[in-house]
Amino acid sequence: MADRTFFVGGNWKCNGTKDSIVELIDQINEGPSIKDAPVEAVLGVPFPYMSLVSEKLRDDWQVSAQNCWTGDGGAYTGEVSVDMIADCGAEWIILGHSERRHLDVLKETDETIAAKAAYALGKGMKVMYCIGELLSEREADQTLAVCERQMQALKEAVSDYSNVVIAYEPVWAIGTGKVATPEQAQEVHEAVRSWVKENISPEVAESIRILYGGSVSPGNCDELSTKPDVDGFLVGGASLKPDFLKIVDSYK
Ligand code: PEP
Repeated sequence: MADRTFFVGGNWKCNGTKDSIVELIDQINEGPSIKDAPVEAVLGVPFPYMSLVSEKLRDDWQVSAQNCWTGDGGAYTGEVSVDMIADCGAEWIILGHSERRHLDVLKETDETIAAKAAYALGKGMKVMYCIGELLSEREADQTLAVCERQMQALKEAVSDYSNVVIAYEPVWAIGTGKVATPEQAQEVHEAVRSWVKENISPEVAESIRILYGGSVSPGNCDELSTKPDVDGFLVGGASLKPDFLKIVDSYK
């Protein structure tokens, strides 16, 4: 396998209370240190709790936001700027999650997501850039076309990929319990890496981490992680439980 450090991101989405979060962080902090382990573990936390998690979480783990504003702060009521996210102790931002792309009240476009990524990277943040097809798109044989379109938008906005991780999250697998088979995941990851090789550079293709997301659990992570182009996971539901530690452990 290529020399890419395994990466496990958790996405808490719009879940949690101060009490439940402190309980979960205490359980994570009691787990084994990953300081010298070949794995990065990052928690995607709702904005109001980022400072709390940054203060309490052991420093071999990292904190991520789940979205950001497209540029500098200012007269943008209700938005949260990249500077604020950094100020609250987060190093990462999840962008282009399918819920932000597809929920009717959000409908973020490829261009908006790519603009956010470019701005955040320019500010020194790291980005988990999510791509993936709807079930109807898979059934219409559009999986790779959709992923490539989403990658193309990123390419048009970004030139340095050293702080980018791609998360391939088929929308039909998110929160549904219908996990992609290891073969389905590998097929898309390999195709995305080939696209990166041809359209960005062989060096970026070799080094960029491509995570799988969609109903990853302690029961299926080990098999998925055997695939050569699966460099880790982005995990929703299962990241809200102490069992998440077992998914982090699947780097072994
Ligand atoms: C996600 O929210 O990114 C996700 C993959 O969710 P789940 O693991 O619950 O399917």
